[in-house]
Amino acid sequence: MEFIEKLAALVPPKGRNLIRYHGILAPGSHVRALVVPGQRRRERGAATKLIPRTRIPWADLLKRVFSIEILRCVRCGGWREVIGVVKDPLVARKILEHLGLDTEDYEPLPARAPPQLDLAL
Ligand SMILES: [Zn+2]
Repeated sequence: MEFIEKLAALVPPKGRNLIRYHGILAPGSHVRALVVPGQRRRERGAATKLIPRTRIPWADLLKRVFSIEILRCVRCGGWREVIGVVKDPLVARKILEHLGLDTEDYEPLPARAPPQLDLAL
C-alpha cells in the first residue's frame, strides 16, 4: 500500500503538462529569457532585449513548409518589410487594378474524396 501511495503521487493530474521545468528554466525565473532561445528585439534607446518567442512569424512558416523566402526581393536580393495590411476587399481590388494584376474572385474548390489506389495489379 505504501508503494502504491508513492506511485500515485507521481501520476500527474489529468490534462496537466507532463514536462515541468525548475531552476533557471522555470516559467517564473527572471533569467529564463537568457537561456531559452527566443527572438532578440532592438528597442529604441535600449540594448538588445531578448523577447521569448510565442509564435512563429508567417514568413518563417512559409520558408519552413514551402522553402519560400517571401520577404526576399527577387530583383535585388534585399529584404522586404511589411509596412501595412490591406483588409478592405474594395481597396485591394483598386490597388490590383491600378497595378494591372488579376482581380478575379476565385471560389475554393469543393472537397473531394482521397484518390483510391488500385493495388490489385
Ligand atoms: Zn528589390
